[in-house]
Amino acid sequence: MAEPDEAHPEAVISPSTVPSTSEPKEYPPLTRTATALVAPAPAPAAPSNRGGSRCLKRLQVQGADVKALPKKDYPDVADPVAVEGPLGGVRYHYRGKREVHAVMDCSLAAALLRAGPILKRFGIEKVIHYSALRPGARVARSGRISGHASGKAIDLGEFLGKTHLKVEKDFGVVRRGAPPCPPPKTARELPLRQLVCALADANLFQVLLTPNYNADHRDHLHLEVTASTASTYLR
Ligand SMILES: [Zn+2]
Repeated sequence: MAEPDEAHPEAVISPSTVPSTSEPKEYPPLTRTATALVAPAPAPAAPSNRGGSRCLKRLQVQGADVKALPKKDYPDVADPVAVEGPLGGVRYHYRGKREVHAVMDCSLAAALLRAGPILKRFGIEKVIHYSALRPGARVARSGRISGHASGKAIDLGEFLGKTHLKVEKDFGVVRRGAPPCPPPKTARELPLRQLVCALADANLFQVLLTPNYNADHRDHLHLEVTASTASTYLR
């Protein structure tokens, strides 16, 4: 199988050209008041994921084996986590060579956890993914920053359990640019399309791209969470 990055639209660009979205190095000067003898409040501490974010704690309360990662190692990820066990009863297995690609933002892990019951309904216990975080990733044609750059997108290639669905083989007839839902009537296409449409209906992800989107997505579903949950883009 080809190295996922070669097949994917969001080519990884060189780190030197990646715009840094890390926190500012300096904070604004402290305001001096008339009560000069009162010591100024200490500068706020640098953001740290130590102890875990609210998102992480919520996942852990729900039994997910998710660990906080040092923010300094993943400056473009708001809340970097390592997923070490199932999310919502489904295991996510990264198939690739770079460990960094298995890292994700906690908000994505939370959406995957909530997607668990949907996947289980289809008899799925394990998902093979090709990457979540890809530092500096950009969308090939537009050049805009990809959701992968902040660990908020994941590319799912295969679904295993009672069934084995492979996006490349089981998506069925591809109609570029057409919405993949509602699912077609053809039996062969049905399970994977039904799954895509069930995930879309659940409103857990704001961007869902399938092989219908373009040739770069012929072998995976791209699921992405965004800051705005007002709309869903599905192709
Ligand atoms: Zn993707």
